[in-house]
Amino acid sequence: MSKRDFYEVLGLSKGASADEIKKAYRTKAKELHPDRNSDNPKAEDQFKEANEAYEILKDPEKKAAYDRFGHAAFEGGMGGGRPGGFGGGAGQGDFASAFSDVFDDLFGDFMGGGRGGRQRASRGADLRYNLRVTLEDAYSGLQKTITVPTSVQCDSCSGSGAEGGAEPTTCPTCSGMGKVRATQGFFTVERTCPTCSGLGQIIKNPCTKCGGNGRVQKEHALSVNIPAGVETGTRIRLAGEGEAGMRGGPPGDLYIFIEVTRHPIFERDATELHCRVPVSMIAAALGGDIEVPTIDGGRSRVKIPAGSQSGRQMRLRGKGMPALRGGGQGDMFIELAVETPVNLTSKQKELLREFEAMSEDNNPESKSFFSSVKNFWDSMKG
Ligand SMILES: [Zn+2]
Ligand SMILES: [Zn+2]
Repeated sequence: MSKRDFYEVLGLSKGASADEIKKAYRTKAKELHPDRNSDNPKAEDQFKEANEAYEILKDPEKKAAYDRFGHAAFEGGMGGGRPGGFGGGAGQGDFASAFSDVFDDLFGDFMGGGRGGRQRASRGADLRYNLRVTLEDAYSGLQKTITVPTSVQCDSCSGSGAEGGAEPTTCPTCSGMGKVRATQGFFTVERTCPTCSGLGQIIKNPCTKCGGNGRVQKEHALSVNIPAGVETGTRIRLAGEGEAGMRGGPPGDLYIFIEVTRHPIFERDATELHCRVPVSMIAAALGGDIEVPTIDGGRSRVKIPAGSQSGRQMRLRGKGMPALRGGGQGDMFIELAVETPVNLTSKQKELLREFEAMSEDNNPESKSFFSSVKNFWDSMKG
């Protein structure tokens, strides 16, 4: 089988720059890396092929030779005819060792920290706590005690993880690197050290209470101040109230995620509150006072103007929600819903028919409406 062109292998065209070559290889290597392709048997060969191509093209001298002679530049048969400088150096023998340099070069970040990227004390994880509050609570704000299952610093070893406060020692497996390299056939793979879990240090006599972690599980109760004006999606950060760090590392933070439950009456829009208020047909026609509930638990009197239609909006200033970070109080809006009377007695029906007859005679507006509809249909016929 003839060898594929090195540029083609990396998806490049001839004469690509050093930067382009490095970039193309990086992309290919990530895509084809065996850790991500356990179900693709072809990936290993393609990975090797990409490595071989990069090995040549990243080296200006070898690249120049390849550009000039193609694959023939690196075949044993060329003997003394080869351009000087690298002799048999590109043979398969030391390929693997060259490859591990490629690894250092390219995978420092990808593999999760290069050599010496060990951490002895790591920061604890952030925690999330979902808290549901009512709209009334969101209106007034509240003080609430919550219980968070978390891990806290072990008091028997003060978080060091060592019995009696002894100093941890360097991990013999990774010599403190926190990572080990394993050669699997062709590949050199860097992994987190199994002995010290990447910490680079081990504890000879681990603390019996925490097993050497320096932290123990605990239900942590704390009082939280939920300010007035919170909304669904509001996050409250409590610095340092997250999980304790490993071996004395700093703790993470606790985030309280607020969810405001739906209210049976009020619909909220930022600081505005909206609600629909039923009014009788008579009150809407003649005008009058109605009482409406407000979010603070009280009631407000509202004057309904005579002749109000269903859907009419009225504003109650300052009866809405407070703004979270100051900035005053929103307004409340009520929308009138005029109710049509039902279950009428025959006397009521009679009165309404009488009312209707009077309306047709006396309401010029309704008269002109019906006549304009009639005119319209007449004109359509014509
Ligand atoms: Zn302990
Ligand atoms: Zn180790």
